[in-house]
Amino acid sequence: MNIGPYSVEDYMHLVKSFHGNIAPGIIIGGFMVDLAVKSLPEGILFDAVCETSACLPDAVQLLTPCTIGNGCLKVVEFGRYALCLYDKYQGHGIRVLVDTEKLEQWPEIKTWFLKLKPIKEQDSKILRDGIINAGLDILSIQYVKVKNMLIGKTGNGAIALCPECNEAYPIKDGHVCLSCQGNNPYYRDSQAQNDMPSLNIFTIVKS
Ligand code: ZN
Repeated sequence: MNIGPYSVEDYMHLVKSFHGNIAPGIIIGGFMVDLAVKSLPEGILFDAVCETSACLPDAVQLLTPCTIGNGCLKVVEFGRYALCLYDKYQGHGIRVLVDTEKLEQWPEIKTWFLKLKPIKEQDSKILRDGIINAGLDILSIQYVKVKNMLIGKTGNGAIALCPECNEAYPIKDGHVCLSCQGNNPYYRDSQAQNDMPSLNIFTIVKS
């Protein structure tokens, strides 16, 4: 059995180096991407959407040309373990999901997927082997057409300098950047700098 162009074993090595650990979700994700790619018409230019940020986007990035950075992979945070590959221009696509009815045949995968037991009470080797044996058997596909907001280029448009932080930002976001509108995720003060254990002497600190 293969996952994309890789043997299962080679895919595991890739996952380890890219994702850091061989998480069960990313093995399932490999089969999901493989199924979606094989279900699309050959030669089609596709984009991808993942319905969770957990694990699944990394499987897409490993196995397709779609990445977060090139804009061809979008994440919509629905918390559902599902993805869709779709025609970049027309929007026709294949949605692949983990089918909970099919999990009835695979109790150890069901226990993990639905969090029926604490993870430390589950045997990771049995789980991993189960996922590899199950392969496509726990998945289902749906034929969908994605909505217009996901089709075509979604550029940021014109930019301006934010009057508060003086950094460039998309004008469409408002009269100041989104960070200065109260969404700044950082504390930034002299204490933050003092707390940094070993500040590299070449670091350029902008005041
Ligand atoms: Zn700003």
